[in-house]
Amino acid sequence: MIPDPLRQHLRSCQNIVVFTGAGMSAESGIPTFRDRFEGMWALYDPQDVASLDAFRHHPQTVWDWHVQLADKIRQVAPNAGHAAVARLESLVPNVTVITQNIDNLHQAAGSRTVLELHGNIFRLKAFVDADELFAGDHSPIICRICDGYAVADECGTYATKDDLAAIVLKAGPIPRCPGCGARLRPDIVWFGEPLDIYVLESAMRAADTCDALICIGSSLEVQPAASLPVRAKWGGAKIIEINPEPTSLSFHADVFLQGKAAELLPQLIQAVWQSTNY
Ligand SMILES: [Zn+2]
Repeated sequence: MIPDPLRQHLRSCQNIVVFTGAGMSAESGIPTFRDRFEGMWALYDPQDVASLDAFRHHPQTVWDWHVQLADKIRQVAPNAGHAAVARLESLVPNVTVITQNIDNLHQAAGSRTVLELHGNIFRLKAFVDADELFAGDHSPIICRICDGYAVADECGTYATKDDLAAIVLKAGPIPRCPGCGARLRPDIVWFGEPLDIYVLESAMRAADTCDALICIGSSLEVQPAASLPVRAKWGGAKIIEINPEPTSLSFHADVFLQGKAAELLPQLIQAVWQSTNY
């Protein structure tokens, strides 16, 4: 499965990045992004339910769509692949998970350091309509509850961050920040939105400094996420790819394992870190 020199290298790694995409969660039953717009989701064009503009014009429709998606995700559990990623933390000093998934399944499986490039559907944040906010007479401030831009005289005095944390994504009217009154939205990256710069920089730093990167279930078609394995390679890291089909990375990978993460990842860990045959 793994050539012996690479196996020795992996066993000596101090820093490993595990980079995961939709294929990782597909085996738990989470539809891949494309699938979400088929079947029951085919009623909507993605731009109509997952963009700033959609929320601006049809906030309740957008909210309701995310509630349905979140309810679907709540019904699934991490698979053997997620469990294997979490187990890696007991075998390697530093493991950083970088994921394109918004489903919280890595954390549910026990992974502690997870950089979510596209956010997390179960976390909420304030909807900031910058165009509207900066066009008004008020000077915006940062709301001390939601950390979003707010208009000073609307910020509640008695609200706490705990009040905000208690609000969850569920059916009903769109909730508001208890501090500034801004409408809340899922903390995920919608169409046309940039990635969170702090998360992206942390991911780039992890990729630049890792000894090995294991790429799992990502088609590597979405930038800038797709560049992370390449950065790791430039930095001298070994690249292991697990995917059902070859990708643009496969040619550059030190090992390409073709198949499902839930089957191959436990085998990889067994072969490298838990085998006594060395
Ligand atoms: Zn607020």
